[in-house]
Amino acid sequence: MKEIILAKYGEIILKGGNRPKFENILLNNIRNAIKNVAETKIRLAQATVYIDTDEDKLDVVMERLSKIFGIVSITRAAVCEKNIEDIKINAKEYLRNDLTEGVSFKVEAKRSDKKFPLNSPQICMEVGGFLDDEFPATVDVHNPDVTVKVEVRDFNAYVYCAENKIAGQGGMPIGTGSKATLLLSGGIDSPVAGHMISKRGVEIDAVNFFSFPYTSERAKEKVIELASIIARYTSKINLYIVPFTEIQLQIRDNCPEEHMTLIMRRFMMRIAERLARKNKSIALVTGESIGQVASQTLAALDVTNSAVDMPVLQPLIGMDKLENMDRAREIGTYETSILPYEDCCTVFTPKHPTTNPKRENIERTESRLDVETLIEAALAGVEKIEVYPN
Ligand code: ATP
Ligand code: MG
Repeated sequence: MKEIILAKYGEIILKGGNRPKFENILLNNIRNAIKNVAETKIRLAQATVYIDTDEDKLDVVMERLSKIFGIVSITRAAVCEKNIEDIKINAKEYLRNDLTEGVSFKVEAKRSDKKFPLNSPQICMEVGGFLDDEFPATVDVHNPDVTVKVEVRDFNAYVYCAENKIAGQGGMPIGTGSKATLLLSGGIDSPVAGHMISKRGVEIDAVNFFSFPYTSERAKEKVIELASIIARYTSKINLYIVPFTEIQLQIRDNCPEEHMTLIMRRFMMRIAERLARKNKSIALVTGESIGQVASQTLAALDVTNSAVDMPVLQPLIGMDKLENMDRAREIGTYETSILPYEDCCTVFTPKHPTTNPKRENIERTESRLDVETLIEAALAGVEKIEVYPN
């Protein structure tokens, strides 16, 4: 018996005339994600990607597919000739361990090849009756433990248990939606924000602001580690590390303490915007939720975002911290995010930050600094790291 992987895509179906373009990008992303772990033959038909690989590589390929945006479900399936006898023989061999004593099952059939001599209800009757005779499991069409799927497709028929299907990431394939630049801290939220935006098909660059020696080498390693976890979903990420200490010291020495965080955030946005334009990103991505901390009130966000002339995507804007934490656990960044190494912001946090700032006031105190010179000096010290999935 031969087993294959079927990966079904989701929203691409809605793409009308552009569908082949999206399908090709998805196929390329799949090939790239798999090429280092297994030899595969891949083809796409009827909103399904067929991945044929060696039996001992099926699990690792499934794992990779489960992180590729655009795919909604993945399953292993037995490959059958397109005749009912071969479907039965394979179903018997393939489902031996599923249809045991005390288990109830039903068969669901789908026939996309209308030339197949039996229609879907007839396939269900034939295969269901046969399995009922062969195994101790019993048929229950209303509330079965196991749903046996039979799909008669273009070149073959396929049999699998619906319960063995795993969920894909959903979303759109990376490379179908331009590029954005993520402000990636060492915290919980920004990695989640990056994952959410790249899930919509957007390629991601990352920028981190780093305050050596106030933040340690360990803090930098933590950010690289976070980028490499995001890269499991996106493939390679370019991470730009920006030296930020001088800017923070200048702000601390020249601006009112209660404005410190927001002026700092405005510098981050401006520097990220410059890097974004240079690298052909057309938006910034940050991890704020309204009201989470003083610098994330609506008024504060207005002050921060008005420093740049580029869309700022904030996918967590309406989420609660607990929801962000759940997402971080799901995507695998949480455990790294909670490592205790100081972020550059926590080092320079004012005791009483303003929660209802006015743009004009912040701009006035900020004008005490030579903004342009500070930005250029920071940009001159940027370190670029190519981060690969870990
Ligand atoms: P996070 O959990 O993402 O660190 P946070 O709740 O700690 O977020 P803030 O510290 O107010 O929030 O930062 C808001 C956003 O600014 C972050 O989500 C991130 O996008 C960006 N940011 C903050 N600090 C840095 C940094 N050192 N480098 C890059 N981006 C940063
Ligand atoms: Mg933070």
